[in-house]
Amino acid sequence: MTHTSLSRRSALAWLGAGASIPVLAACGGSEARAQSYPVSYSEAEWRERLTAQEFRILREAGTERAYTSLLNDEKRSGTYVCAGCDNEVYSSRHKFDSGTGWPSFWRPISDNAVGYETDYKLGYPRREVHCATCGGHLGHVFNDGPEPTGKRHCINGVAMDFRPA
Ligand SMILES: [Zn+2]
Repeated sequence: MTHTSLSRRSALAWLGAGASIPVLAACGGSEARAQSYPVSYSEAEWRERLTAQEFRILREAGTERAYTSLLNDEKRSGTYVCAGCDNEVYSSRHKFDSGTGWPSFWRPISDNAVGYETDYKLGYPRREVHCATCGGHLGHVFNDGPEPTGKRHCINGVAMDFRPA
């Protein structure tokens, strides 16, 4: 989130009013989800609000190169929020070093913070994970994580901002 917070405030005002704006633009990739999210913008508005890299990951379901995110080595206590809408998605309490080069967590910060979808981009099914508030793509979930869940949420650092506790 690098641009004006003015329109975000109005989006939150919408939220306060209990309104839900449907996602109208089908941007290809996993963004063709026919769902509505509490925070929703047109493709042009997202391009304005996000950096080019954030847009590629969050809105076009891209993947950052391994070991390129500073958040991979982030070891402080704190909260990871969606770079698109500030929704809290992961906590340092559930972070672990997976050795993959991507920030990894064994669970989201809460069960309703994220949503899941199956994607076949690589020709086999993978569990895609996205922000439940704005639909922004975060990463994928694999079944080779540590106890107690056995899950590995493999998340693009670009898709998140870190808030130290
Ligand atoms: Zn979001």
